[in-house]
Amino acid sequence: MLTTDSLGRVSNRYNYDAYGTNYTGSFSGKNKIGYNSKHYDTGTGWYNYGYRDYDSKLGRFTTQDPIRDGMNWYAYCGGDPINYVDLWGLFSESDKSTRYTDNIIQYRIPDGNGSRIEKNRAKTTGIVIHYTAGVQIGKDGKEYAQTPKETIDYWIGAESINAHFVIGENGDIYQALPKQEIGQHAGNGGPYTIQPGIVEKLGGHPNARTVGIEMENIDSKGTITEQTKNATIQLTAELCVEYGLDPQKDVYRHYDITNKPCPKNYVDNPDSWNDFKNQVEKEINKIKNKI
Ligand SMILES: [Zn+2]
Repeated sequence: MLTTDSLGRVSNRYNYDAYGTNYTGSFSGKNKIGYNSKHYDTGTGWYNYGYRDYDSKLGRFTTQDPIRDGMNWYAYCGGDPINYVDLWGLFSESDKSTRYTDNIIQYRIPDGNGSRIEKNRAKTTGIVIHYTAGVQIGKDGKEYAQTPKETIDYWIGAESINAHFVIGENGDIYQALPKQEIGQHAGNGGPYTIQPGIVEKLGGHPNARTVGIEMENIDSKGTITEQTKNATIQLTAELCVEYGLDPQKDVYRHYDITNKPCPKNYVDNPDSWNDFKNQVEKEINKIKNKI
């Protein structure tokens, strides 16, 4: 579904999955019948999804998704004025088709959910890259990536964490929050605390100054696919152009912010992280040459 703004430009694209239903209800809280009418068991911390349970402590389903039944695949879109079809109003139709962010899938955390701050950042001085850490264990005992939708459903249930974007193993980009909204992905948590100098560098609390991007890993070693990496590079580059950020100085691993080993692949392999930032820089140059 496309919507247009007052000038008749396409201002939003609502993507529906093939399984889509017009879900318009709101999540009623984790101790009640919750999102998608799934019961939350406060004893086990699992959501009962009928065919399988969701373990909100581990951040994954307890079994692999059998048939994707019973989930609402509605792309929740509300109140976000940001135009993802034409991010800056600078691209022609032919340019658009080459850009990852043409196809951001809107799967928003509902208004009123406990994880939503529902206040906008005064300014944006950084981008923080994460991995979701959770994996699914299949019936074959092997590890599989979670889907971005599963990650966002987990956030909806947990009511305490979120990030703006989640990138799946196929490079699919899901958006969970209005881009300008203050997220909850880079604050103090557990043993991890905001590192000295970070607040000064960002000009405020990390959550109040940064966009959060989560990458889905395919195993517990934190491996991400090439598709995930490439889509993350593209999205990061486009955000850097939009906010006037320098990928070498303003793009952070979560690790750089709070010392949490996230994203694991780029903490374990600093050379890969440097390569990531260099590729973001290359993409920025490509975007600027088009402009
Ligand atoms: Zn993280």
